[in-house]
Amino acid sequence: MQQEEPTIVRDERYNAQPIEEKWSARWQQDAKLYAAEPDSTKPKYYVLEMLPYPSGALHMGHVRNYAIGDALARYMWMNGYNVLHPMGWDSFGLPAENAAISAKVPPREWTLRNIANMKAQMKRLGFAYDWSREVTTCFPEYYRWNQWFFLKMYERGLAYRKKSKVNWCPKCCTVLANEQVISGRCWRHEDTLVEQRELEQWFLRTTNYAEELLRDLDCLPGWPEKVRTMQRNWTTELSALDPELGRKVEQLIAEQKKAKESGDLGEIEKHGVNTGHLAVNPYNGERVPVWVANYILMDYGTGAIMSVPAHDERDYEFARKYGIEIKPVIVPRETGNVGNVGRTLLSDDASSQELPFTTLDGKLINSGKFTGLSCEEAIKKMSAFAEQHNFGKATVTFRLKDWGISRQRYWGTPIPMIYCDKDGIVPVPEKDLPVVLPQNVDITLTGGSPLQRVPEFFNTKCPKCGGAARRETDTMDTFVDSSWYFYRYTDARNDKAPFDSATAQYWFGEKGIDQYIGGVEHAILHLIYSRFWTKVMRDLGLIKNDEPVERLFTQGMIIKSGAKMSKSLGNVVSPDEMVEHYGGDSTRMYTLFATSPDRELDWQDEGVAGIYRFLGKVYRFVSRNARPDNPEWNGPVPAELSTEARTVQRKLHQTIKRVTSDFQGRWHFNTCIAAIMELVNELYAAEGSVARAPSPAMPIAFLADVQRKLVLLLAPFAPYLAHELWEMLGENSNLLKEPWPKFDPELAKEEELEIPVQVNGKLRSKIVVAPDAGEEEVIQKALADEKVQSHVAGKQIVKKIFTGKLVNIVVR
Ligand SMILES: [Zn+2]
Ligand SMILES: [Zn+2]
Repeated sequence: MQQEEPTIVRDERYNAQPIEEKWSARWQQDAKLYAAEPDSTKPKYYVLEMLPYPSGALHMGHVRNYAIGDALARYMWMNGYNVLHPMGWDSFGLPAENAAISAKVPPREWTLRNIANMKAQMKRLGFAYDWSREVTTCFPEYYRWNQWFFLKMYERGLAYRKKSKVNWCPKCCTVLANEQVISGRCWRHEDTLVEQRELEQWFLRTTNYAEELLRDLDCLPGWPEKVRTMQRNWTTELSALDPELGRKVEQLIAEQKKAKESGDLGEIEKHGVNTGHLAVNPYNGERVPVWVANYILMDYGTGAIMSVPAHDERDYEFARKYGIEIKPVIVPRETGNVGNVGRTLLSDDASSQELPFTTLDGKLINSGKFTGLSCEEAIKKMSAFAEQHNFGKATVTFRLKDWGISRQRYWGTPIPMIYCDKDGIVPVPEKDLPVVLPQNVDITLTGGSPLQRVPEFFNTKCPKCGGAARRETDTMDTFVDSSWYFYRYTDARNDKAPFDSATAQYWFGEKGIDQYIGGVEHAILHLIYSRFWTKVMRDLGLIKNDEPVERLFTQGMIIKSGAKMSKSLGNVVSPDEMVEHYGGDSTRMYTLFATSPDRELDWQDEGVAGIYRFLGKVYRFVSRNARPDNPEWNGPVPAELSTEARTVQRKLHQTIKRVTSDFQGRWHFNTCIAAIMELVNELYAAEGSVARAPSPAMPIAFLADVQRKLVLLLAPFAPYLAHELWEMLGENSNLLKEPWPKFDPELAKEEELEIPVQVNGKLRSKIVVAPDAGEEEVIQKALADEKVQSHVAGKQIVKKIFTGKLVNIVVR
């Protein structure tokens, strides 16, 4: 990596390090610098980047994420908003525990060390966070409110305990949420198959809100469509035809339980018992045998289903085994040879059909009056029929399950529950919160919660009877921590409540966080749980908004040499190294310049060097052309400017227009920065053409104006350099709150065209017109020209022609 070798005089040399160190030190002296204002009359703006997991060091993906948010926060400050821009640490969780095991450092110590390091990195990069609101989720002053929320949910039946089959990662030695299982494997251990175990678990009743979580996706136009689609697909699956078959329910449940004991669903040999009972198919009055089978999912619909062996793999296998009639009711749209050799079952109506035929791309047979309909039509008509005849209706079946939050690990929020032999499950009284996570705990990988091995934690007294009792030793899933942290930022030091409702309502308004920015990998888990938590908090009366986030932006990933950065590939670019070589400004500005922020960024070291050279160019120009001691420096910009100055002025206003509209719209900061580069090129060209500015062609008041505005435009992208230049220009106001420059549409207009005017084919004058001027306007102006007048006066005009490039007037 090469650092640019300065070839210019010493005082014009751009050296990022001393500039950034100087401003970093100044900024740190002012604790209130980035603080949101209490009781402000300004409009509010809450911009938030997803809080990081304190793994030890920032990676480039973080830098990109925060550079986007920081540019926006600075832009909003300059536009007169009361901005909330906080940062915190998602600091509980498995990696701390695993790292602590291998590094033999307690998780808390390891975590706090990482936080200190990453915070220093963030400060070095110049991100404008209000650190007085810092939230660290592993501190009792934060997680006590997780426990408080849990108790509130328990009171309302939203938190409950049940024995259930859980996904168990033998490597993590813990339960995984369904969402943490990817293709049967652990999300953290891609090569480890997830096992099934049966444990008593705590659940949050997310399904109570399933319908609202789905419906409200339509009220989030500020979210990327792909994220809404992902959540929609995650939440639901469409089903219909769900007639009531539940008879002799108690007997069936007993037999079902027995069947369930035989093993895991899915993999197991399917078997069942014939109850000897018959159910009536309400569509045609036919009698259908009722079986209890071990492969039916209890939580699918009511648990009683209409088996369709001809069109479902599992039902087919089951029916074959027990010789149950297999009656095809769907045939492919295109009849004929369906292909593969396979299980063919003959029936009267579909003699050569491959079974089971499991796609919905077909038409109905053997279905009475519905025969001949396409599957889609049949679903609609049969649903309507069920409704008319009062035995059913089409419903949406939610795929979303209740959220299992129990983790058999140490480094998390203790679940505030107590088990008493006499009283059963007893919640910890609110006044006894927080249940503090003990320190100095021996963490091993032998399974079960390490808290079971801490007697002073485990043994307690029952709050009801005062007798000996045991504490719950499971801790909460860390997605609990991140489900509501952004409310805590609004009132981070409150020790009486999770936050003050009025304060949170000010920042969240009716629609939530104004702008949330983070990786698309959090589109489902974090954002669904956050939406659930918001709805629960609303129902608890704590807030008024229905949704946590009004606008969401998901930035693209950073790759290098065609692959995701990873240690094993050796293609990791460290932010520290970049900052050391090029400074914080160049590093963060490059992440915005390389491509538009929603797209994948292919990292190029030369690109950072290019940004460094550009900033050096700006620095040199200003160091040569800043003349704050000149008496004309603060004078008004002359209305009439030389051609050179006018060219620069036009470019300036075009650039302001471009950058402003991009902040308000599509966020293509790469083109914004490119526009600023063009402006700087224009300044250099003008400086050259007038020998050296200032000159009569480049008045000093104008030179002051254009440099001030250039610095304002740079401030959201390269704050260190912008502050330094602001000072060089003689300004002592706080650049952070300096008003964003306004563009004048008139001044931004393209240069007027010079049009030669001929009279009888001879050039007589030149006129200047707007580039969009029409024919009539141009000819009028030509005729009004003094020189032209002297040649046409007293003569008869026989022809007036405007070719687009010149005007010809024919007179006689
Ligand atoms: Zn695992
Ligand atoms: Zn008791």
